Amino acid sequence: MSRKIYKDIAELIEKRRTQGLIKNERVITSPQGTEIEVGSRKNVLNFCANNYLGLANHPEVRQAAKDTIDSRGFGLSSVRFICGTQDIHRELEAKVSEFLGTDDTILYAACYDANAGIFEPFLDSKSAIIADQLNHASIISGVRLCKAKRYIYSHNQVGTGNYTFDGKTLPGLEAILSSEEVQACEYRMVSTDGVFSMNGDIAPLGEIVDLCEKYDAILMVDDSHATGYIGATGRGTHEHFGVMGRVDLITTTFGKALGGASGGCTSGRQELIDWLRQMSRPYLFSNTVAPTVVGATLKVLDMLTENTILRDRVHANANYFRNKIKDAGFSIIDGDTAIVPIMFGEYENDAVLAQKFANDLLEHGVYAIGFFFPVVAIGQSRIRVQLSAAHTPEQLDRAIEAFVAVGRENGIID
Ligand SMILES: *Cc1c(COP(=O)(O)O)cnc(C)c1O
Repeated sequence: MSRKIYKDIAELIEKRRTQGLIKNERVITSPQGTEIEVGSRKNVLNFCANNYLGLANHPEVRQAAKDTIDSRGFGLSSVRFICGTQDIHRELEAKVSEFLGTDDTILYAACYDANAGIFEPFLDSKSAIIADQLNHASIISGVRLCKAKRYIYSHNQVGTGNYTFDGKTLPGLEAILSSEEVQACEYRMVSTDGVFSMNGDIAPLGEIVDLCEKYDAILMVDDSHATGYIGATGRGTHEHFGVMGRVDLITTTFGKALGGASGGCTSGRQELIDWLRQMSRPYLFSNTVAPTVVGATLKVLDMLTENTILRDRVHANANYFRNKIKDAGFSIIDGDTAIVPIMFGEYENDAVLAQKFANDLLEHGVYAIGFFFPVVAIGQSRIRVQLSAAHTPEQLDRAIEAFVAVGRENGIID
């Protein structure tokens, strides 16, 4: 059948292809890790997984998943409130709450769902959401599902003025919170990522918490890129800034540092979590988290509570890599996380160059990905490097050598 939309979409894709903006997926034929098989290539060094603590294929985590299959089965074939809650789901909710220092926790199939289901139960058209300009796509999806008034503040700016970031001029958080319009709303919810995935920078949570208390706003932090390794014992951004217990709602994923399978949660104030359990649509109408994921995540939290070896190692690796790459002359966004963005915005056709750089890196046995519009702003293309506790010093040095070689080949550094 020939419909107009088929032809139009094929043309759109072709146009994107000629602009160098098509995302192609590479196929991995090994478990996730620091050395993987990509197609026919063996021993490719992986620098683009969210496997911050190296737990995605950790023997103890794998064993916990296998043991849980034996003790609790493969699937539950149900949502939570019908027959999808096992003892281990409750146990995981309690353990996450203890780890994050919150009252209670509710599990979701993914953090995407946690974010999709967090706004609408609390906020209607009489209320306001005040969100950081760079918030994750899943938060934006959640905001779209509710009728609250929407305000965007300039990325990580808490002040009362206007600020320009990524070519957009927007007010700071206090400018919005203190406005009559927003103060006249029934409820106000401020929403931010803890660590921003594309920039690897951290939200100034200390100041944000103070402002939320001053202007009577609920604070929601998505700590997906922080939980497990940011803060002295890896509890997250709230620990990093010494504001544990002062964030109303934290959403996070089990699909990154905490083993990397899937699953997510919302954790926070008892009254708010109680209400989500009654009202949050992705929780009510989507399947329970698989027992294997629950069992393995319980194991991960035990491991992270015992000591901070992995947390300390990923920070040491990130600092080592960041310093070496800076010294080599690359232009990066500086920071304190395990994300190191190498920026190509100063070059013409930055999107194409970022893609080429990634392809050339693969020729040198290193896997990293070029990001470009619409994932990041136009003219802000980058290679995002993600470090893991599992990277060895030898792997880090091999990767740095490859970056330097490809940088020289492409005339980016001398
Ligand atoms: C990865 C990520 C998500 C999505 O998590 P999933 O559990 O994979 O759905 C949500 N928010 C942020 C900030 C993320 O980085």
